[in-house]
Amino acid sequence: MEQIAVAGPWVTDKDVAIVVDALTNGWYDKPYWYVETFEREFARFHGRRFGVMTPNCTSALHLLLSALGIGEGDEVIVPDCTWIGSSAPVSYVRAAPVFCDIEPENWCLDPASVEIQLTPRTKAIIAVGLFGNMPRLDELLAIAKRAGVWLIEDAAESLGSVYRGIRSGAFGVGSVFSFHRTKTLTTGEGGMLLLDDENLYERCLMLRDHGRKRGGPAYYFWEVTHKYMPFNVQAALGYAQFQRLGELLARKRAIFERYRTKLADIDDLQLNHEPPHVINSVWMTTAVFGRRHAVTGASIGDALSRLGVPSRPFFYPLTSLPAYAAVRTQGARNRRAYDIAARGISLPSALMLTTSQIDRVSEAVRALLGYPPFGHERLASTTIVSVV
Ligand SMILES: *Cc1c(COP(=O)(O)O)cnc(C)c1O
Repeated sequence: MEQIAVAGPWVTDKDVAIVVDALTNGWYDKPYWYVETFEREFARFHGRRFGVMTPNCTSALHLLLSALGIGEGDEVIVPDCTWIGSSAPVSYVRAAPVFCDIEPENWCLDPASVEIQLTPRTKAIIAVGLFGNMPRLDELLAIAKRAGVWLIEDAAESLGSVYRGIRSGAFGVGSVFSFHRTKTLTTGEGGMLLLDDENLYERCLMLRDHGRKRGGPAYYFWEVTHKYMPFNVQAALGYAQFQRLGELLARKRAIFERYRTKLADIDDLQLNHEPPHVINSVWMTTAVFGRRHAVTGASIGDALSRLGVPSRPFFYPLTSLPAYAAVRTQGARNRRAYDIAARGISLPSALMLTTSQIDRVSEAVRALLGYPPFGHERLASTTIVSVV
């Protein structure tokens, strides 16, 4: 890989062999063997009872909101900074997204902001593990419980993260994952919904398959619903990647650790947050530049791009975008979301990134912030002293 890639998968011969098996044998009597096996093993890994694979994470969240009966007149709380897949399904079911602020350290949903926005119409809170960072789930769960609303975990970016000894994806009434080609575990396009409640599970299966009941008559439809069935070959890739999850996560961690080392002496620079009670799986290494640097994420992104280094912007606050023009005024209360998004940038974190590429990116960031090449700090200060 010559060109530095911002995101991308790590696919090996093992994955290929399993996909070929699904393509060769996964028909007739075994059309869903990989789907069901992957669902079962993925749920068990997260300490959940049920897994429901879907064409992508967005449809998994849509299924869950539908199954919970959330609809017109209801409100669902979402962080202002996240991928639109966290919020779009709220509109699919005709409920209203209510965008809340994020926290300064973990960049995730701020419990204080959530508390202020609760109304009698609030039905659910969607907490997102941004870039692998974990939101303050103990407080969010307590708020949800007190208010009598559902907590839903969008773990699309936090597969492998752990919060107080519990895996991301094990919290709340249900959790959703993405296996998009840019995510840590990929099926190209794909997603998963994890649940514990059996009735909710049966309802999700029915909603996923044109209103048919599992085990019921094949040509009999109880409701007009979605068609969000996964493909066995897609599931085979997911199953194969899941067998390698340890090495995929280790690779993401190694990328993060190298950036952290190479940028360690830069003052006032925040990377992915990892308090003592969290293990951060760091889907993407993300940097937020402190005010003393007097840069924006956009200015650094442009400058990096001129050096041949790609990056991606921190998630723009959704309330700042045309898609949510109708609720733009909600953004005024989310000061931190706007502030952090303006000063942040995600660094290349593709699984196939080489060490020398990570070093190249790090050196480019150092140079743009006026820092000497890594390892030359002492030399630089000596030079300054001798000039004085
Ligand atoms: C990637 C992502 C999604 C959507 O995933 P798809 O599989 O593309 O639908 C949802 N939420 C978050 C936080 C994501 O990063």
